[in-house]
Amino acid sequence: MTLRGLFTMIDPAADLPFFYGSISRSEAEDHLKLAGMGDGLFLLRQCLRSLGGYVLSLVWNLEFYHYSIEKQLNGTYCIAGGKPHCGAAELCEYYSKDPDGLVCTLRKPCLRSADTSIKTGVFDSLRDNMLREYVRQTWNLEGEAMEQAIISQAPQLEKLIATTAHEKMPWFHGKVPRQEGERRLYSGSQPDGKFLVRERDENGTYALSVTYGKTVYHYQILRDKSGKFAMPEGTKFDTVWQLVEYLKMKPDGLVTVLREPCVNQNNATPVLPNAPRRTRENGYTPPPAVPRTSRPSLPMDHDGFTSPYDDPNECKKKTLFIKRDKLMIDEVELGSGNFGCVKKGVFKMESKHIDVAIKMLKNENEKSVRDEMMREAEIMHQLSDPFIVRMIGLCEAEALMLVMEMAPAGPLNKFLSSRKDQISVENIVMLLHQVSMGMKYLEGRNFVHRDLAARNVLLVNQQYAKISDFGLSKALGADDNYYKARTGGKWPLKWYAPECINFHKFSSKSDVWSFGVTMWEAFSFGGKPYKKMKGPEVTSFIEGGGRMDSPAGCPEAMYELMKECWTFKHEDRPGFVKVEEKMRTFYYSISKKIPDYMKAANGKPPK
Ligand code: ADP
Ligand code: MG
Repeated sequence: MTLRGLFTMIDPAADLPFFYGSISRSEAEDHLKLAGMGDGLFLLRQCLRSLGGYVLSLVWNLEFYHYSIEKQLNGTYCIAGGKPHCGAAELCEYYSKDPDGLVCTLRKPCLRSADTSIKTGVFDSLRDNMLREYVRQTWNLEGEAMEQAIISQAPQLEKLIATTAHEKMPWFHGKVPRQEGERRLYSGSQPDGKFLVRERDENGTYALSVTYGKTVYHYQILRDKSGKFAMPEGTKFDTVWQLVEYLKMKPDGLVTVLREPCVNQNNATPVLPNAPRRTRENGYTPPPAVPRTSRPSLPMDHDGFTSPYDDPNECKKKTLFIKRDKLMIDEVELGSGNFGCVKKGVFKMESKHIDVAIKMLKNENEKSVRDEMMREAEIMHQLSDPFIVRMIGLCEAEALMLVMEMAPAGPLNKFLSSRKDQISVENIVMLLHQVSMGMKYLEGRNFVHRDLAARNVLLVNQQYAKISDFGLSKALGADDNYYKARTGGKWPLKWYAPECINFHKFSSKSDVWSFGVTMWEAFSFGGKPYKKMKGPEVTSFIEGGGRMDSPAGCPEAMYELMKECWTFKHEDRPGFVKVEEKMRTFYYSISKKIPDYMKAANGKPPK
């Protein structure tokens, strides 16, 4: 899905048949005229000034009335002086019953005709670009990793951008005095409309300096009580960057529209789309990230979001087998199985040391176990995704060792069951969405996992999940849709779809079934699926049409998705493309509330 699609999906009004998107006032009036100008005829459009706001255009007595609907910091919507509502749809419904200050009730929606599509606004495309630029600048991500970062964290990123993005803009010069601002504008050429924004000493206010006729003019950017930004007497905006973008189109009282930014050398790290990845070695110092205290950690803050081998210096050194002297092994055991145990360790790379988990094969194991581990390594070697535990390499020394990146917070089921009261449903949804992204990647690469379960989802931290344990996984041939197991084995029956048990057929569709069980485990905070039933009893329970009940507190939409994953026939079951899309839609829809720390000035926590 493109980012455009991503944001239209976010705009909740996009579903309303009387929502026109980013049309102007006069365009709105034209639509209303065409629809007959009846009393109470109305439509909804996007507000061009405030992030997430709307305008309600209404007809009464052959006159037009335009009411702006503001999005409040707590995520509710209201017409100035009116009651707050949780969405534009709810607001319109309310005013269809009670005028409550409007000229009349909303009586007849002015519906979009079949050939009228929702018009996307300047800020929609701007927001896409902003988001990309922000991710690029803050985490130094490119390409697929950037897309993954955006898709997995869009709601959090939008909130961050809304409040802090101007700090990354080339025209933003930080706390420099007026004289220094002038000096910077006077150096080099001085075309009309060359501008910069500086931060003033007074908390939360800014100044705009613009060149016109070889003279520099200064304007204050004020901040009102509700936190909105405006020039004195000017149009109000939610963010400084929106104000700047608006002033590029309209002078709004300035001597000139804004044209060329006076570039702050510290903010100027232009990256071309196909430029080689910037590294510390080729002279790049990443800009300081937004202070971590001001927001929860995001997956991209962690080094494991990209592969350690993405670094060109390390890439040259990459081999399947790694030398024993590059590995330090701790006594600490992270877990164990019949193959041996998993220990904590450190892998010494060329330019950095990374924490690793080392799966060690017990020497007394027979050859078949060794072969199994080699196959697991072979699979992992071919995978690289932010939501899948990466293999670092194999090491043959005191034992055969599979070296993986470390996921310190451990298995999802244990993590959740030990923190029942501290973890929100939103948090669980976000983690499961990440798992669905990792599974979508596997499906796309034609791998079947065959052991997806909460115990095999490991956490880097509370915000970041990775799929692990490829011990049963298989690569499918290009023309195969499933893997046929010749013999049954020690199988996790409670996680297996009917076709796995009955016909030994494994596909991404059967992984989807397991994903449903994993969801159930997560929403029941690490509970055991099919409580007291034994594996074979579960099989007949499923055959008889039985399915697990919804865990307490599990959102309705998530239980519906679980049941879809448990569609009996694999032909009718959704694949991970669909599952990820549904997870994403739900995750975005519940993550829109702005957290408390964002309500403070500049998105920084109050001191
Ligand atoms: P098994 O095939 O025995 O289930 P796993 O690969 O699931 O083996 O690993 C067993 C346990 O070891 C996990 O449950 C987890 O506690 C720990 N472990 C495995 N890999 C990692 C890792 N990359 N980071 C942290 N802990 C890990
Ligand atoms: Mg396991």
